[in-house]
Amino acid sequence: MNATDYHGHGHGETPSGTGESLITLTDVAFRYGPAPVLTDVELTVRRGNFTGVVGPSGSGKTTLLRLLLGTLRPVAGTIDRSPGLRVGYVPQLESVDWNFPVTVAECVLMSRSERRVPWPSRRERAELSAILERLGIGDLANRHIRALSGGQQQRMFIARALMCSPDLLLMDEPTTGVDFTSRHEMLHLLGDLNAAGTTILLTTHDLNGVAAHLPSLLALNHTVIAAGGPAEVITASVLERTFGAPMEVLQHLGLPVVLDPGPHLAPVRARRTG
Ligand code: ADP
Ligand code: MG
Repeated sequence: MNATDYHGHGHGETPSGTGESLITLTDVAFRYGPAPVLTDVELTVRRGNFTGVVGPSGSGKTTLLRLLLGTLRPVAGTIDRSPGLRVGYVPQLESVDWNFPVTVAECVLMSRSERRVPWPSRRERAELSAILERLGIGDLANRHIRALSGGQQQRMFIARALMCSPDLLLMDEPTTGVDFTSRHEMLHLLGDLNAAGTTILLTTHDLNGVAAHLPSLLALNHTVIAAGGPAEVITASVLERTFGAPMEVLQHLGLPVVLDPGPHLAPVRARRTG
């Protein structure tokens, strides 16, 4: 999570990793119905990358994750996966049914891909404990998933994704519904996982709190608008093309800061223009 040690790369080339390609998308297009959702997507996810995908709601971020995961197939173009690649997926919290009556341990163990027996082996139990400890939720193993805070829920889903020792961790909005402290801890946790060798690609709509702190970004609006480090992607020009609205960007302590033209700023904007 060093915002400075990246290099600018070309279109769709995520810059933080120099390792081999784990997944390469060439000229990928996707649609659910008649309207195209993704077109001409060129993207290489390399071993070691820690990349954030930013873009407005409906821009195709979740769809891109599903293509990378392999649960959706492109209608055009090709997706090349390195053979034997293990991919872990952390879903967006809103897409989860929290009334499902399971404990943290049960939920995490459900991810076991080859589940020949309904109960975990001694090795799996040991692995479960180690992963829960590592994520700081070791004491929550027997807690019902409904009784967790947003940050704890996210950790549980990360634990679940880590049970298959993924090469690549895909996370959909991992900091949404998570308070400031948890968000901060989450970024550190993900930075540590990345430093220990896990390639990470996440989506986020939080430009200042998350994206600006990641080594590599991809701006998406139905296609790749820009890729590079925060200084290259969090710019007024890229953000306007990505979000379709003008946004101001300042530099603060070496990080780009986006002045969000949210509703609470409306009077200020009115004064400026009037
Ligand atoms: P994001 O994650 O950036 O908000 P999505 O990938 O979820 O964007 O959605 C991109 C577009 O595809 C949106 O217009 C959305 O309504 C549409 N879409 C997403 N999932 C489906 C689906 N299962 N069936 C039909 N349309 C969908
Ligand atoms: Mg989404």
